[in-house]
Amino acid sequence: MTTLRDIGEDALIARLIPFVPRDPQPAAGPGDDCAVIDPGPEYDTLQLLKTDVLVEQVHFLSGTPGRWVGWKAVARVISDFAAMGGQPERILVTLALPTETAVEWVEDLYRGMSDCLLAFGAVLAGGETSRVPPGSAPVISVSATGRVHRDHLVLRSTAQAGHALLVTGLLGGSFPDKHLHFTPRVHEARWLTTHFKPSAMIDLSDGLARDLPRLAEASGCGFVLDEACLPCAPGCRTPQAIEDGEDYELLFTIDPGRVAGLLDAWRVDFPALPLTVIGRLVHVGAGNPLRRGWEHFPPQS
Ligand SMILES: [Mg+2]
Repeated sequence: MTTLRDIGEDALIARLIPFVPRDPQPAAGPGDDCAVIDPGPEYDTLQLLKTDVLVEQVHFLSGTPGRWVGWKAVARVISDFAAMGGQPERILVTLALPTETAVEWVEDLYRGMSDCLLAFGAVLAGGETSRVPPGSAPVISVSATGRVHRDHLVLRSTAQAGHALLVTGLLGGSFPDKHLHFTPRVHEARWLTTHFKPSAMIDLSDGLARDLPRLAEASGCGFVLDEACLPCAPGCRTPQAIEDGEDYELLFTIDPGRVAGLLDAWRVDFPALPLTVIGRLVHVGAGNPLRRGWEHFPPQS
């Protein structure tokens, strides 16, 4: 028997996709931050679809205030819309909870979701509730629709060797607090796609060590990471900036000739948020290997 632990998350997804019928002409996905649906050339806007899940003791600790879990549940989805250059519109919430769960905690969960929906202009459209068997962990799933202007869509798969790698914000140390309170980079992504459209983009949910190889592989490239340039969060060192998950910053690529102008303009419009060149894409096989970071089905050590 092969177990999930034996193959890991990415290989599991690759094995499952062939089992099901798929959109014959998807604009993107599976395999990007969101699925992208093209309603036809007469429309300027593409539809984005996303689903996500939080499991207690995997994505948040028991005892975490419901309001923080609610913010995170919605913000994770919105971060994926940002990674495509888009914005959220409507969400569906599925709760699978133990019957002993305090009603007040669930109300707080919805207050946190509401905080995030209001901050980013999205609304609740519906949902589903279930109990889980005694002793099972609470599960909160958020699915969402969004949109992106056809000209602003950014995929993971369209970077080229030679393009510069940049990251927003500071990396590392998201546990115990930042992973519950982060701000999805929707406004920054919209600014980028309007003024300095990236050639590829991803949000850093599983850590630079996993998400950088994903972007590079999707684009058919290798990469060189300049570890000395990594923008480490206070109290963090380079290994944490590379391996810690849940930064929810944007990692993107752009033609190197546009970097200087981008950095100058960024400092004017986002003076409080660092933007850092951390390396470049290269031809496949020519760069660094890097495969650490968050794995949902980790091998036993
Ligand atoms: Mg993502």
